[in-house]
Amino acid sequence: MTQYVYRFGGGVSDGGKGDKNLLGGKGANLDGMASIGLPVPPGFTITTEMCTRYYEDGQVFPDSLKAEVANGIAHIEGVTGKKFGVAADPLLVSVRSGARASMPGMMDTVLNLGLNDETVVGLAAISGDDRFAWDSYRRFIQMYSDVVLELDHGAFEEALEIAKEDKGFTLDTELSAADWQALVKQYKAIVQDQWGKPFPQDVHEQLWGAVGAVFGSWQSERAKVYRRLNDIPADWGTAVNVQAMVFGNMGDTSATGVAFTRDPSKGDRAYYGEFLINAQGEDVVAGIRTPQYLTKVAREAAGAKPLSMEEAMPEVYGQLAKVFDLLETHYRDMQDIEFTVERGHLWMLQTRSGKRTAKAALKIAVDMASEGLITEEEAVARVDPSALDQLLHPTLDPNAPRDVIAKGLPASPGAASGIAVFDSDTAEHRAELGEAVILVRTETSPEDIHGMHAAKGILTARGGMTSHAAVVARGMGRPCVSGVGSLAIDAKAKSFRVAGREVREGDIITIDGSTGEVMVGEVATVEPELAGDFGVLMEWADKVRRLKVRANAETPLDCKVARSFGAEGVGLCRTEHMFFDAARITAVRQMILAEDEKGRRAALDKLLPEQRGDFAQIFEIMAGLPVTIRLLDPPLHEFLPHAEEEFSEVAEAAGVGIEALKRRAAELHEFNPMLGHRGCRLGVTYPEIYEMQARAIFEAAVEVAEKSGAAPIPEVMVPLVATRRELELMKDVIDRTAKAVFAEKGRTLDYLVGTMIELPRAALKAAEIAEVGEFFSFGTNDLTQTTLGVSRDDAGRFLTTYVDKGIYARDPFVSLDIEGVGELIELAAERGRKTRPGIKLGICGEHGGDPASIAFCEQTGLDYVSASPYRVPIARLAAAQAALKKG
Ligand code: ADP
Ligand code: MG
Ligand code: MG
Repeated sequence: MTQYVYRFGGGVSDGGKGDKNLLGGKGANLDGMASIGLPVPPGFTITTEMCTRYYEDGQVFPDSLKAEVANGIAHIEGVTGKKFGVAADPLLVSVRSGARASMPGMMDTVLNLGLNDETVVGLAAISGDDRFAWDSYRRFIQMYSDVVLELDHGAFEEALEIAKEDKGFTLDTELSAADWQALVKQYKAIVQDQWGKPFPQDVHEQLWGAVGAVFGSWQSERAKVYRRLNDIPADWGTAVNVQAMVFGNMGDTSATGVAFTRDPSKGDRAYYGEFLINAQGEDVVAGIRTPQYLTKVAREAAGAKPLSMEEAMPEVYGQLAKVFDLLETHYRDMQDIEFTVERGHLWMLQTRSGKRTAKAALKIAVDMASEGLITEEEAVARVDPSALDQLLHPTLDPNAPRDVIAKGLPASPGAASGIAVFDSDTAEHRAELGEAVILVRTETSPEDIHGMHAAKGILTARGGMTSHAAVVARGMGRPCVSGVGSLAIDAKAKSFRVAGREVREGDIITIDGSTGEVMVGEVATVEPELAGDFGVLMEWADKVRRLKVRANAETPLDCKVARSFGAEGVGLCRTEHMFFDAARITAVRQMILAEDEKGRRAALDKLLPEQRGDFAQIFEIMAGLPVTIRLLDPPLHEFLPHAEEEFSEVAEAAGVGIEALKRRAAELHEFNPMLGHRGCRLGVTYPEIYEMQARAIFEAAVEVAEKSGAAPIPEVMVPLVATRRELELMKDVIDRTAKAVFAEKGRTLDYLVGTMIELPRAALKAAEIAEVGEFFSFGTNDLTQTTLGVSRDDAGRFLTTYVDKGIYARDPFVSLDIEGVGELIELAAERGRKTRPGIKLGICGEHGGDPASIAFCEQTGLDYVSASPYRVPIARLAAAQAALKKG
């Protein structure tokens, strides 16, 4: 027969191993605390398995449970010497829910269960405190009616308010025993009125009512929603804890409180908490009275008058401090604790690992390892990599006032203030003048790159978390708030309206990309701190990490940030944004619109020195490290002129007529550019473009090697390859160019030629492609698009529904679709390695900074992941954790 009831306290422990899955978090830790000798009121836990069975059986309890619960009550009676439902010395209990993971939405705790018209008299006699007894009874009726009977609690509160008003009291504590007794009468009348039955006087009926309500709450709407949002399976169930009451409301030597063993917001090693004298249960958090500080230091720092617990109850405080230390040693983590003092006697009511900010998580992990409480590896495993995001960007000063006017999606973390501007040229111009600007657009496109670069932050009215603005902003480490639907932008008038307010160009606004808030005016920010604990944890992470971490970086600034964050190379340097530069775009357009090779070469000659300069800067910063440069990839139409004056500029530069240019532009139009004339297809049709880029790369590499002595390691990457032959043709162009440059300069350099794997065909044919390619970089953004047949730019309309319905577990553009796209990667890695053992394998794309995707890369044995510069530390930590997990 399955055992459903586990006892704890009074030297008895049925739980033994502290199994959270069986006993729930609260139950397991109550048993755990009792087992290490801490003062825990005795009780028992009805297991989560019972909850599951309760639902399987159609919401009835098996007969065997009655006897087990009776046995549990007998245990409590035995330890306390009190008797449940017996007036002479009545046992009162609390009934508490407790899932595996702490879960809002579950039934609230019922305290003082076991009181009725008779036992209340007994309680008064035995405690010698009438007032306490009647106060306890009225609390019980109120809680039970609210939580178990689900009656409207307004009527109870109203009755209490009126009672206080009649007497001219403001505080509950002013009410006398007689006052509470009168209220009990009123409360019972309210129950009769609302429920149609008298308040249950049978203590066993009370108990089973409460137990049933806890199990019932597992399927409440609130609980279901919470489980869905947090991936908690419905068959986990909740446990129920029944525990002897202890009373913090028995006068001035009694108290109740909550505490953390360390500061949960800053992480400092200092006891942290609040308590209230003569109070019960949730009075501390309920805010009815202002709680007092736990420690003298905290009280003085806050300039508060009412004595701290350390000062008011020095002896009990001393015991409590010892308990804090014991609990930390036992659970080896910062604890969040509930305690009660009954007439000078300390009781522990709960402990669990405390929630903390990212900053505190970091500090606590590093401190605990330094104290020898946990190992360095455990410290590495404890910090959530994604939480580091909060620390890597400037954040709003939490104490600064803010005037929020709208809210959108928190698309790219960090906060920024600046003047609102409504187009990218103005953004660039005003940034050059030294102004901080926020670029405000309905949505952004590749043509806005320079404006986004110049801006301190980006705000868009449309677009989701994977919109152009969001993806590019994250890549650049710019804060971004996207999809602010309420924003009515008038780009012509250079203003927007929202919530009855108008913001014009030049007005200062602030955006918080971590919360999605948009504010008027400047809000002070605080800079991230990357030294100290952060640096120490990263060092520890690097010791266990196997995967290398590179950055997706394409400007000198990106490269500098990436290096400072510990990037071990560039995994993806896109070259197209270099073409958008105002000084070059005309030559680029001239190249695209040229009718023949001669025309293209003339334009490319103008671009060569510029490109060489770009690469030289990057190579210098990344000296000695590998730099993967992707040759031109996007469809050419992205560079085409639109406005009349743009056409005439190009016509003049190229010495051709405007009409001919326009005809050529129309010829270049594509129906589906994503699958059109792009990637290596450009290089196959116009080899001179890739030739120019290869020349720029090798000339720059030689130049830097000569100047600084540290030779960069160029890895030339050909995009969108589907067949071996494509790569062969392109490799030939690159190798020939390298040879020519080395001959001219009289110096050779190591380099690699490889390809992105971003088409399913390339993954399938990896064995043959590896005959030519010296490395593969999985371009998982496009590989996801091409494998799923889903366009990233259009997915916003349906992808959320897909995730909601469980078709994809997570947004596959944020976290790799391991089942599908992942299988292609595994297959390509395996086939590639067969042809070329030790072929260098990496991943670039948004997934390179996503911890779950990084874990997959570790499993697959890739050599490196490449993430946007600001995500490099996240990737380092995630890679370390993946290595630890793999063991
Ligand atoms: P939650 O999970 O919402 O914190 P708890 O079950 O921990 O709910 O209980 C709510 C409050 O009641 C806490 O302040 C707790 O300390 C108090 N409490 C619970 N059981 C007892 C008890 N047996 N004696 C005294 N106070 C109790
Ligand atoms: Mg609690
Ligand atoms: Mg691509």
